[in-house]
Amino acid sequence: MILCWLTWRNFIRSVKINIYFCLRINTSMDPRTEQKLISKNINPTAMRGLVLDFLLKQTSAISLSDIEKGMSPADRITIYRTLKTFEEKGLAHTIDDGTGTPKYALCLDDCGANEHHDMHVHFYCIACKETFCLPDSKIPPITLPLRFSSLEMNLVVKGVCDQCAK
Ligand SMILES: [Zn+2]
Ligand SMILES: [Zn+2]
Ligand SMILES: [Zn+2]
Repeated sequence: MILCWLTWRNFIRSVKINIYFCLRINTSMDPRTEQKLISKNINPTAMRGLVLDFLLKQTSAISLSDIEKGMSPADRITIYRTLKTFEEKGLAHTIDDGTGTPKYALCLDDCGANEHHDMHVHFYCIACKETFCLPDSKIPPITLPLRFSSLEMNLVVKGVCDQCAK
């Protein structure tokens, strides 16, 4: 009986999600969103368009859980795969801000497939707990000892952002 109820509930849920996505898919994608996907060699599916539009609206970097909440009822795995594609194609980068939860932010235009140039500082605000890309604050060149080679660099500044300092 319980099993039956769960199956029924899942069925109703999947129908709801499908109806939701059919409605969303039928509304055509913003040509600029589509163009941005195409310019990074990403096939412009409806889901990718929705995730990109959502990221474009953000003023700070965002975690997978918060994207999931904001795009409810979109499926977490699908969002995760979409973000992975964005990362591979140079559309978005992940940020390790020291909180233990990776954050996602859109890249500047010069990032490409498996080639990121996001050598900017990231800022973590201890008051609002938001993480910001600071594209104008570049990570300075670091001199490494002999036979040390770097694979990636991440510079996070912690402090209070302009909004919280008001
Ligand atoms: Zn990038
Ligand atoms: Zn703040
Ligand atoms: Zn960034």
